[in-house]
Amino acid sequence: MLKEFTNYSEAIKGAIFPNMELRFVNWYLQHGCDLDCSYCKVPKQKVGIMSQEDRQEVIQKVRNLCSKQPIISLLGGEPTLRPDFLVEAVEDAANAGFLVNVVSNGWGLTPELIMRLGKAGLHYLGISVDSDRNTLKSNLGKALSLHATTRKFGILPVINTVVTSDTRSEDFKKFAGEVIRAGCFISPLACSPEVPGGAFSSAQQDLVPSQQQLRAIIPWLAWKKLTTGLITSDFNYLWTLYNSGASSDEVNLWHCASHFRLERY
Ligand code: SF4
Repeated sequence: MLKEFTNYSEAIKGAIFPNMELRFVNWYLQHGCDLDCSYCKVPKQKVGIMSQEDRQEVIQKVRNLCSKQPIISLLGGEPTLRPDFLVEAVEDAANAGFLVNVVSNGWGLTPELIMRLGKAGLHYLGISVDSDRNTLKSNLGKALSLHATTRKFGILPVINTVVTSDTRSEDFKKFAGEVIRAGCFISPLACSPEVPGGAFSSAQQDLVPSQQQLRAIIPWLAWKKLTTGLITSDFNYLWTLYNSGASSDEVNLWHCASHFRLERY
């Protein structure tokens, strides 16, 4: 743990004392995905894919705008659908001086691919899993067994999970408890409604968690953060989530400014 703290000290300092430099970049490598999660709009978009030369040039330009130890998150769609392309992108981003995160639903992840990603310079691997058992991404067992390999190659293992109106707080706590007991980090997100022209969410309003649901989950997460350190969100974000969610007359969400929302929200 101490070694990890030292390796990521600049990134941690940037999170505690933020300035105007970029600290976090989301990079959509490609939009194709093998799944079709109800709240996700990414695979429905048809967007061109950059050549390696273009990507290297743009990554370097973005890097010049960043702080000392910025993070880049390489996302899809599902980036493991093109494993060689993913390894190449990780290597380029690491060479440009980013701490590199990859987000995958685990579809194409194998111990061999994780090893290749580690050698290419990957720092964090986030596998997205839903805590609701009836959804497409509900295979926590597979994700945790892959993460045994992740840790072996010095990559930080993370489970990303989205809280929706279908999430039951007791199931969520059981799910997150299993992640923590396996020594993995958990990164919770609250499902957001569709934003016109937005790139990510296609969730209907009735998928957004209620304020009551979030209030049943967030204090528990804050306590786990204090006692285990395995919750990736900072306390500021947890507080924002505590004050978010749908109530009888409005939907209040953290990353969706009111001028982006549809009128009915
Ligand atoms: S949330 Fe992830 S796994 Fe689900 S459709 Fe979107 S990109 Fe695919």
